Amino acid sequence: MFSWFKSSSLPTGADIYVDLGTANTLIAARGLGIILNEPSIVAFTEPSPGKRKIIGVGQAAKTIMAKTTGNVMTIKPVRDGVIADFDLAQEMLRYFLSSKQVKGAFSRPRVVVSLPYGVTEVEKRAVIDACHLAGAKQVLLIDEPMAAAIGAGLPVQSAKGCMIIDIGGGTTEVAVIALSDIVYCEAVRCGGHKIDQAIVDYFKKVKRFVISDNTAEELKIAIGTAVPKKEIRLALAQGRDADSGLPRSLEISSEDVGLAMNDALQEIINAIHRALEHTPPELVSDIIELGIVLAGGGALIRDFDLRIRNEVRLPVRIADNPLVAIAKGGELALEDQALLEKIQLPV
Ligand code: ADP
Ligand code: MG
Repeated sequence: MFSWFKSSSLPTGADIYVDLGTANTLIAARGLGIILNEPSIVAFTEPSPGKRKIIGVGQAAKTIMAKTTGNVMTIKPVRDGVIADFDLAQEMLRYFLSSKQVKGAFSRPRVVVSLPYGVTEVEKRAVIDACHLAGAKQVLLIDEPMAAAIGAGLPVQSAKGCMIIDIGGGTTEVAVIALSDIVYCEAVRCGGHKIDQAIVDYFKKVKRFVISDNTAEELKIAIGTAVPKKEIRLALAQGRDADSGLPRSLEISSEDVGLAMNDALQEIINAIHRALEHTPPELVSDIIELGIVLAGGGALIRDFDLRIRNEVRLPVRIADNPLVAIAKGGELALEDQALLEKIQLPV
């Protein structure tokens, strides 16, 4: 008899989940899966001082970035997981939320967004305001490591402790989760971009060879490794001679790329050590049972799982499809109202 009353008085959940990453933005929709996956980049010109004209967002902006000419600029409006340029982040969100994939499913969606653990109230507010201005009807926030753990299939609601490591573009977050709560989180400003930068610096210093950030990222993905001496691979890179400034190509060995990446990877491993030191022993025994799980693009670095296993002496596994695991977790939260209520952040 009260079924109508009951169902209409219950909160009805949310429609879409936005994984607003430093490198990539993914959107998942309830019942539809991942409906958008684009680089978090905006390209613009500045026809007059302080007045910016957007000429491309997402993949279009990334393509423009690769051949940027004089008056076209590109910006990644999300830095270290939080909004660094409010206006461009809002424009980017507006563009993504009004894409035909999203608009075709929901006109004014109720949005769940994840944020790095421990962001400030001001940073939370910036994301909420940007989503509202971009057309969201309602905005809920969740912690990013929670979305990552759910997406990686970890039993976040159980009393068992689990450890998720999300290695993104700007940051790496190492989190221990139990009973739908983040028990401990260690975040370091070290992710894919810092690794790319380390590769650029290494080749300039050691080989007098200047490469772009894009080439460094391509080398990292093609032949980068966490264990430099294992299984040497080669790749040809285009760059410039640091002394003459002239264009040249160079055959690059995975051993050099691995050595270039080493300090940044060690920084991530040190964060894992610190997180384990701060984790109650009974939860550590659960983590041993479940294994440490890696997600985010950095989880794909060749043999990083092996290196972590050797250094922390615990089992390690990589989440299925680590670049989309976080969005997958958000999608699962959209479908589980009780879980979403438990993990939603107060604002
Ligand atoms: P964010 O959540 O911060 O947007 P992502 O989880 O999308 O970051 O990961 C992006 C990072 O992962 C980039 O720095 C990219 O270079 C890196 N990445 C993507 N694929 C690979 C790969 N196969 N090997 C190593 N790094 C990768
Ligand atoms: Mg991410």
